[in-house]
Amino acid sequence: MDLQLFNTLSRRKERFVPLRPGHVGIYTCGPTVYGPAHIGNLRSYIFPDILKKTLRRLGYQVRHVINITDVGHLTSNEDTGEDKMERAARQSARSAWDIAAEFTRRYLADLARLNVEPPDVMPRATDHIAEQIAHIRTLEAKGFTYRTEDGIYFDTTHFERYGRMARLHAGGLQEGSRVEMGTKRHKTDFALWKFSPPDVKRQMEWDSPWGRGFPGWHIECSAMSMKYLGDEFDIHTGGSDHIPVHHTNEIAQSEAATGRPFVHYWLHGEHLVLGEDERMGKSEGNLVLLDDLVAQGYEPLSFRYLALNNHYRKYLQFSWQALKAADTALMGLRRLLAETGLPAPESPPPAEREASAPGWRLLAELADDLNTPKALATLWTVLRDGAMPAADKVALAAAADAVLSLNLFDASRLDAAREVPPEIQALAQARWNARGARDFAEADRLRDEIRKAGYVVRDGKDGFEVVKA
Ligand code: AMP
Ligand code: ZN
Repeated sequence: MDLQLFNTLSRRKERFVPLRPGHVGIYTCGPTVYGPAHIGNLRSYIFPDILKKTLRRLGYQVRHVINITDVGHLTSNEDTGEDKMERAARQSARSAWDIAAEFTRRYLADLARLNVEPPDVMPRATDHIAEQIAHIRTLEAKGFTYRTEDGIYFDTTHFERYGRMARLHAGGLQEGSRVEMGTKRHKTDFALWKFSPPDVKRQMEWDSPWGRGFPGWHIECSAMSMKYLGDEFDIHTGGSDHIPVHHTNEIAQSEAATGRPFVHYWLHGEHLVLGEDERMGKSEGNLVLLDDLVAQGYEPLSFRYLALNNHYRKYLQFSWQALKAADTALMGLRRLLAETGLPAPESPPPAEREASAPGWRLLAELADDLNTPKALATLWTVLRDGAMPAADKVALAAAADAVLSLNLFDASRLDAAREVPPEIQALAQARWNARGARDFAEADRLRDEIRKAGYVVRDGKDGFEVVKA
């Protein structure tokens, strides 16, 4: 079976052909660990997980790298802002290293709750300073760099194909857009190495052939992806915001150094947005975290269902209502499986055995640029098909879950979710009344009591709902 992937380089779906038969290397730009990942960030790690598991079902061996950005990502895209790690340290009076450790741990915990498999390699930028310096030296030797008072920059006008993926041209960058130039020569040039500012003591800084300082953000991804996957590798993923700057610069500095193509397939996930076209971002201040969903009584996998029910290249408009619908749907699938009365198979049937079955169709849908909404629809059709033997349904669901990872055979919430004891209902009603009377202290006290009993109240516009935590 062919795998088709939409490649940002060509803006078309292309048949996937690996560099080395049977093997695939994937690099995913990981989090900047200065704060918690929001559900938009988390969305951009779900589709590479589907990609990796689909590749495995198709018989490939996958090596997946997700980096941890713990230095050099500035608050502006133009090499003039403050380092996000240093800023977080200043604002919280904690060390940047401490902050990085905490948010790396929380990131991995979020992935685990979403059934996103941890990467095979998770390199940290601060552990790869030597590799980044070596890469910059190569670029310097080939004449692609220049020095200013605050750092070493990549001269994008020297790289002929600059901006091809993003349809930009060097120096030009989006006609009319305002770009802070700082000390650089052309709008699209970018910092490879920044000198530590003379007036402030940085927590994260290193010696280099050019002076004490720290690497720019883009160089880490080139240095680390090439170290763990080779100078030329198969697939690179990230959010759509990475197309015009971060990935454009990764391509330039990688290909300038090696003289070879860097990545064969670029996959970009579209953003998760809140309400009307409102992008969710740390700077916009409208963050929703996985913890917020859990506090409302949702299972993290209900968010995974919501993400899978929307194609990764389309905007996902998040709302609590949409999440609730996803939760109901996930429970519906689990109920249909529970009703077969059959246990989950120990392992999913091998893909080759599904040649003519609906399982083949489902895999073909996933292999068509990861069409998870279609695969979910097929799963629904099959599980509701009265004519299909229960054993076949269970086998198909097991095969689907090897990629979708929705814990389809988990029946633990099925009964509990339905039954809320009357005394808990009464507490929730009392809380609603207290809230109506603006006695918020009492309302909070009752909410705590309900939570201690293992339930969660969710408020709507004109009523409340109680669910098992
Ligand atoms: P960061 O931690 O800011 O480096 O971002 C981590 C990942 O999240 C990157 O791949 C971004 O492209 C992606 N991202 C940022 N905002 C959103 C959003 N609202 N929806 C989906 N992905 C996003
Ligand atoms: Zn990156």
